[in-house]
Amino acid sequence: MTRQHDIRWLGTAIDLAVENVDAGGGPFAALVVRGDELIATGRNRVTPDVDPSAHAEVVAIRAACREIGDFSLAGLTLYTSCEPCPMCLATSLWARVDRVVYAADRDDAARGGFDDREFYDLFARDRSTWPTAVVEARPADAERPFTTWLSKADRVPY
Ligand SMILES: [Zn+2]
Repeated sequence: MTRQHDIRWLGTAIDLAVENVDAGGGPFAALVVRGDELIATGRNRVTPDVDPSAHAEVVAIRAACREIGDFSLAGLTLYTSCEPCPMCLATSLWARVDRVVYAADRDDAARGGFDDREFYDLFARDRSTWPTAVVEARPADAERPFTTWLSKADRVPY
């Protein structure tokens, strides 16, 4: 992929993000692309859907998976108007996209009033310092879902 190719798709993502502000969503949009083919788009839908996980990248990945009928987006590229937050970056890894290409970065997002950079900083710190408690409480059978999974002969690995 050439830089020119990337810049063109990012232009589309930026246009969608700007439109989305007028439509009542957050200033973010993303695309899933295979070569020169647009597979799916996603716009931030957090406030209209009252869904904190409805970030543009997650919305685009869900739409692309529905479109191609597969939970793997291997071979595809995610273009996003802004650097993915940790949730969206992890979703991209789970979706196995080949590339993630973004326009604005976490510092631009911070100036826009969004917490992407703050969450990246949080992940770099010890969990004991987090404002949200993340606690392991381990019953004796904590591993049972995995032993059940591994004993299921027709499981679909992902
Ligand atoms: Zn996100």
